[in-house]
Amino acid sequence: MNLFNVYPLYNIEPVRALGSYLWDKQGDQYLDLYGGHAVISVGHSHPYYVAKLTEQLQQIGFYSNSVRIPQQEELAEKLGKLSGYEEYSLFLCNSGAEANENALKLASFFNGRKKVIAFSKAFHGRTAGAVAVTDNKSIVAPINSTEHVQFLPFNDVAALEAAMNEEICAVIVEGIQGVGGIQVASEPFLQAARRLCDQYGATLILDSVQCGYGRSGKFFSHQFAGIHPDLITTAKGMGNGFPIGGVLIHPKVKATHGMLGTTFGGNHLACAAAIAVLDIIKDENLIANAATLGESLIKELKSIAGSGIKEVRGRGLMIGIELEQPADELRKKLLFEHKMFTGASGKHTIRLLPSLAITQREVDAFLTAFEKVLGQVSTPAA
Ligand code: PLP
Repeated sequence: MNLFNVYPLYNIEPVRALGSYLWDKQGDQYLDLYGGHAVISVGHSHPYYVAKLTEQLQQIGFYSNSVRIPQQEELAEKLGKLSGYEEYSLFLCNSGAEANENALKLASFFNGRKKVIAFSKAFHGRTAGAVAVTDNKSIVAPINSTEHVQFLPFNDVAALEAAMNEEICAVIVEGIQGVGGIQVASEPFLQAARRLCDQYGATLILDSVQCGYGRSGKFFSHQFAGIHPDLITTAKGMGNGFPIGGVLIHPKVKATHGMLGTTFGGNHLACAAAIAVLDIIKDENLIANAATLGESLIKELKSIAGSGIKEVRGRGLMIGIELEQPADELRKKLLFEHKMFTGASGKHTIRLLPSLAITQREVDAFLTAFEKVLGQVSTPAA
């Protein structure tokens, strides 16, 4: 049987990883500034994480949500404390798309409405509801296309004000758009979204799948705006590679049995991974590390003069470098000549999403290589 060929692949086969490094079959070492789409939050194969998962697997790996799983309660308690959302409750699932799918369902169950506002360049996942609020026609199959969704320009308070009414079920927005090119939702925009959702009885959903879990320098990036969403979705960094997602739910939304459900969500092993991640983030002060190293990396990138860089955007360790020319050649040079993984958003933007535990030495190594490669690929001004 062949694999269904949906991914363009680099011909690299990582066989081992530790911290911010990967090693391929030939033994070549790579610096990871991308964490496999923002997933590696506490570093690859962190010894505490490996021990916690191993220990759990030796006890019990899985049972379904028909029995008590105390690890779910430990996870909810630790997540509430570290994120500042102790009053909210937690629904566990397996991925970012699933978290958004469940958040949209909850919003609709809650206020009985069905119209959703989403934003230009939004990415919320590939399942039916999540892809319907994703602004990319090429991944929306006819069966997913719906008239319930209205797309508005991102960060446009006036457009949102004009579009809101009593029929709107939910507003869904990323605190920092990832796939859309590392576009930070402005504080006035998020505050207006909160105010308008309150005014019209709509549910505010903050998709924190990519920008959450400390990456921005706060646990959730919307916390810079001082708002409290009704629903917050997470995944990616939550399990450091073990599939797990979640919805943090405002206390006004009441659960009933059978309202949501999942076979795998919140299983013992997934919870062990997520608990280990939170323990490491807390014990190693990784949110502060993301804030400090992110800020200095953004500053350094902005200071690279006369360089072919159009704009540097982001917060903490979620950084977009928009180039004058397509990013592909530069990324290939970084990967094959300097052995560094980076990501992309669209044609021109390089995405940096390293582990929150990245060190100054690793950041410096990247900056040295990046400046060198930038000098080689940028066209000198005429
Ligand atoms: N939401 C955001 C903001 C994302 O960046 C992604 C994935 O890139 C998703 C949702 C979907 O997550 P998953 O691929 O885990 O379904």
